[in-house]
Amino acid sequence: MTVKIGISACVLGDKVRYDGGHKASSFCMQQLAPLVQYVPVCPEMAIGMSAPRPAIRLQLDAEHQVHLVQSNNSAIDHTAAMLAFTEQKLPQLAQLSGYIVCAKSPSCGMERVRLFDAKGQQLGKLGVGLYTHQLMQKYPWLPVEEDGRLFDPALRENFICRVFSCYDYQQTMQDGFSVGKLVAFHSRYKFLVMAHSPTAYRELGRLVANAKLFAADELQQRYLLALMQALKNIATRKQHANVLQHLQGFLKHGLSTEAKQELADLIQRYRQGFVPLLAPLILLQHHLKQQPNAYVSAQRYFAPYPESLGLRA
Ligand code: SF4
Repeated sequence: MTVKIGISACVLGDKVRYDGGHKASSFCMQQLAPLVQYVPVCPEMAIGMSAPRPAIRLQLDAEHQVHLVQSNNSAIDHTAAMLAFTEQKLPQLAQLSGYIVCAKSPSCGMERVRLFDAKGQQLGKLGVGLYTHQLMQKYPWLPVEEDGRLFDPALRENFICRVFSCYDYQQTMQDGFSVGKLVAFHSRYKFLVMAHSPTAYRELGRLVANAKLFAADELQQRYLLALMQALKNIATRKQHANVLQHLQGFLKHGLSTEAKQELADLIQRYRQGFVPLLAPLILLQHHLKQQPNAYVSAQRYFAPYPESLGLRA
């Protein structure tokens, strides 16, 4: 099994857009491609549209229902066809660990898609692409991100972290869920979650501690959803520094005064923005080699995704 990521086909360079063009993303096609298996989908082509084709848009009717209509003739309504497609397609995507969608599209956009009223007046960037809306409803835990937002280093790192964490969870539970597996999984994720959200760290801890109160199916889904929501918070320098100090605490008895001070200084320089996260992490891992600690070494925090992506540099 490999990490499977759904993706808008135009983001992979397919010329399927309404204007006959594409929206190829070099990050997706070059850096990420060797590490994942893409599942490309163009919902508009899938419902029988051609490329090129007339532009479509999201339009609100008098009952506040959103429709997918042709921009130059709103009597041509693709809503039913798109909903029928999503109903047939989405159950086939249960194995995905993430999804990259094309921004602004009335079918694929994740947020801030232009919404119009029946007279063609713009109501603002208030919509969600019809296909992606259905996708996020069906799989609320699934990491979804837009191609354009992946240019932002923090958002890119955050999305990739969620994708590989989601995949790790799916792999862990692939032969069946058990509370024992959940406890072991959560034990590895404690510090990664703490870096993203100290509040969620406490809430997830409570959920796992109360595991016996839930049916297995409910617990499995609750945990994954809560984990993905926790990791969606951007991990700040302050929170990373806090985690690094916690991890340092596990090693302090075996470190000389000088080594302790050197690590503390490096964490402080990271907190102040003078060195990248990699600097204190490498020193911590060096000390871990000298004083092995199985609990600390197993922390996913040290390697939440493949190093080759260079996201911590
Ligand atoms: S945004 Fe979605 S619907 Fe539009 S061309 Fe790309 S894949 Fe197809």
